[in-house]
Amino acid sequence: MEKGFRALVLDRSADGVIRAAITTLNEEDLPAGSVSVDVEYSTLNYKDGMILKGLGRLVRDYPHVPGIDFAGRVSASHDPRFVEGDAVVLTGWGIGERHWGGYAARARAPGGWLVRLPEGLSTHRAMAFGTAGFTAMLAADAIEDAGIQPVDGEVLVTGAGGGVGGIAIAALAARGYSVTAVTGRAKTLSGRLKGLGARAVIDRAALAAGSSRPLDKARWAACVDAVGGPLLAAALSQMKEGGVAAACGLAASGDVCASLLPFLLRGVRLQGVNSVYQPLAVRERIWHRIAGEAPLDAIEAITETVPLSRVPALADAILAGRVAGRSVVDVRA
Ligand code: NDP
Repeated sequence: MEKGFRALVLDRSADGVIRAAITTLNEEDLPAGSVSVDVEYSTLNYKDGMILKGLGRLVRDYPHVPGIDFAGRVSASHDPRFVEGDAVVLTGWGIGERHWGGYAARARAPGGWLVRLPEGLSTHRAMAFGTAGFTAMLAADAIEDAGIQPVDGEVLVTGAGGGVGGIAIAALAARGYSVTAVTGRAKTLSGRLKGLGARAVIDRAALAAGSSRPLDKARWAACVDAVGGPLLAAALSQMKEGGVAAACGLAASGDVCASLLPFLLRGVRLQGVNSVYQPLAVRERIWHRIAGEAPLDAIEAITETVPLSRVPALADAILAGRVAGRSVVDVRA
């Protein structure tokens, strides 16, 4: 008989309370899919925090295994693209939301969702990037694809203390852009953000104070925004002529009260970034860019590796904006 495997499972009681427990599952418990994977690492993202706390109705069916990404090795495959032992990574496609995710030592998914890890990128390093890094790289590509070059001026990155923001700083700086980081924790995180490649670090409150002006002094050639709300409104009012704001997240709020003036008078462009449904060719290209040119050591330096048992406690911290950098979850520990 096959051995069971560890998993962090969420269940909802009759009174609607969500509870997390580490338990043992068996292969036959897993959802349908053509490829089974021995998961080595997953990560903790803002969305995982919401799912662990039952916020936003992201999960409809319980019991549920959360974890919106994972990296590991194929243990069985009915997909001709993969054989046992292949190192693979999975982000998006509703993994950890509508489909069981990475907080289990084994997962099963459709083969078309999986990307083979490029040579030289370990499963741990892949998860140091994870969904946050994949998204940050998409945002950096969006800025480049819109024709913004390093000579065009400063790039603003909000939510700099978090996963998307931190990796966006490192990725943009590695591509030659001069980056200004915005954080609510300037006093404590300034050194770390400069270490990632930020030229300057400014306080969130100072930037948001500008949101009351429809059009402010033009300062930013581009922006990667992980926060939304008044901070994005302020950034938009300060964009240069033809500037591009890549909107990735809404850690503060999805409601943005911005004037049309930056769009009408400066031709500012607002570009949404969605990592969830990207075609395989884009996924493979991004993972190869991560392996080949992303500042892997800098990202490892802002990464903490935690055991599965710490995940429920960290969910509160990430929702409160108290987690800094990346948290890789070792699902075997
Ligand atoms: P983190 O929690 O790691 O980082 C978010 C950062 O935003 C925090 O570190 C904090 O930075 C800042 N922040 C948090 N709360 C507030 C607040 N109330 N007001 C202002 N700033 C705040 O999350 P991630 O980096 O993983 O994700 C960031 C956002 O991007 C989330 O909304 C997430 O859902 C979204 N996302 C979107 C993806 C996509 O495909 N579009 C993929 C991945 C994430 P600081 O302390 O430095 O100010």
